[in-house]
Amino acid sequence: MSRKAQAPKGTFDILPADSRARERVESAAAQVFARAGFGRIETPVFEDTDLFHRSVGETTDIVQKEMFTFDDLGGRSITLRPEGTAAVCRAYVEHGMHKLAQPVKLWYSGPFFRYEAPQAGRYRQFHQIGAETIGSDDPLADAEVIMLLSDLLAELEVPGVKLHLASLGSPDVRAEYRNELRTYLREHEDKVSGDVRARIDTNPLRAFDAKDEPTKGVMADAPKLIDRLSGEDLEHFGEVRGLLDAAGIGYEIDPTLVRGLDYYTRTVFAFTAEGLGAQSEIGGGGRYDGLIAELGGPDTPAIGWAAGIERILLALGEPESAERSDVFVAVAEPEQRAAALALANELRHAGLVANLDLAGRSLKGQLKQADRAGARHTVILEGDGRATMRDMESGDQREVDVARLPDELAEAR
Ligand code: AMP
Repeated sequence: MSRKAQAPKGTFDILPADSRARERVESAAAQVFARAGFGRIETPVFEDTDLFHRSVGETTDIVQKEMFTFDDLGGRSITLRPEGTAAVCRAYVEHGMHKLAQPVKLWYSGPFFRYEAPQAGRYRQFHQIGAETIGSDDPLADAEVIMLLSDLLAELEVPGVKLHLASLGSPDVRAEYRNELRTYLREHEDKVSGDVRARIDTNPLRAFDAKDEPTKGVMADAPKLIDRLSGEDLEHFGEVRGLLDAAGIGYEIDPTLVRGLDYYTRTVFAFTAEGLGAQSEIGGGGRYDGLIAELGGPDTPAIGWAAGIERILLALGEPESAERSDVFVAVAEPEQRAAALALANELRHAGLVANLDLAGRSLKGQLKQADRAGARHTVILEGDGRATMRDMESGDQREVDVARLPDELAEAR
C-alpha cells in the first residue's frame, strides 16, 4: 500500500466542523472594523523577499530563521508573508494612498507563514486578523486601534484577557538605549544564555524575550527603555494612557515588552489570554512611524496590530460544532428521487438548509442519515403529492401539504 499523504509539518486542515467557530471570529471582526470605518485590504500571500528585510529587520528572528523563502522560476527571491504590516505599507506607497484623506484605516484577514517549531498555538501556516491606521501620529489613533482589539476580544468573550502596554520611544533614543543595554549585557555575559550572548551586538533588546531563568534574572535588573524616553515620547505615551483610562480599558505597563520586529516606535502593546500556556499572546502591535518612508513613501506615521485566529479559538476552547440542517428530504419510493431533489432546491431557495439522500438508501437508512446530518425535520415524500413531516427530536410525525412546507419549516426554525 502507498504511504498515506499528510499535510506538511506545522500546517493543518480546517474541516467543516471547525469552520463555524472561525467564521464567527471573522464576521465579528468584519463588523467591528466596518463600524469603525476600516476598509478591507487583501495583499498577495507572497512578496519580494527584500520587502521583509527592509521592514521587519535583518537581525530579527523572523528574517533570520523563520521565513519561507525561495527563488521562483524567473530567479526572483520570493517570501511567503510572515506578517501583514509590511505588505499593507507597500500597498499604501504603491497606490499613492497618501493622497487620500488621512489617516487611511485598513484591515485584513488571511494566512501567514513562519518556519517555527510547531506546538499548541504555534504553526507554520496560521491566520491573522489585523488593523492599520496609516497617516496619524495622534495618540487618539493609538487608543482607537487598541480599543478595537479590546472590543473584538470582549465581543467574542475571550476569557482572562490582559493588555500589556509600553513605549519604545523614537529611533534615536532607542539607539542610545541599545548601547547602554549592550554594555550592561557584556557586564553579565557569563550569566545569559548563548543565544542572547551571540546577539548582544546585533539585537540586544531580544534578551527581554528570553525564557531561561538565569537570563530572566539578569534582565530583571537591566536598564529599561521606558525610563529613557524623551519628553515628547513620554507626553505621547501619557496621552495614550489617559485616553485608555478615559475609555475604561485596563492595562499594565510592561517595561520588558519589546516585540520582535524592528519597525516599532513609541506605543507597543500585546493582549494575552489565560490558559494558553507558553503562547499566551493573542494579539499585539504598535506604532511604526518610520516604516512608510523606509519603503519609499513620504514620512507617514502609523499604528496597527495583528491577532492570531488560532490563538483566539484556543483561548475560547471552542468545541467542534456538529452539523445542523433544517430538513432532510427522504423518499418512500425511488421514483420520488427527482421530486426530492426539486423540493430540496425549492427549500434552499427559501433560505433553509436542506439535505437529501445521495446513495439510494432504504427509508430506514435515510432516517439514520438525516439524524447524522443533524436535521431538525425529515420530510418523507410518499408519492401522489402526499408527504409526512417527522420531528427528529421528538419522533412526532404528521401529514403535510408540500406546498406549505417552506413556511412550516421556516416557522419551526
Ligand atoms: P506578531 O505578528 O508576531 O506580532 O503576532 C501577532 C499574533 O499572531 C500573535 O499574537 C499570535 O496570536 C499570532 N501568531 C504569531 N505567530 C504565530 C504562529 N506561528 N502560529 C500561530 N499564531 C501566531
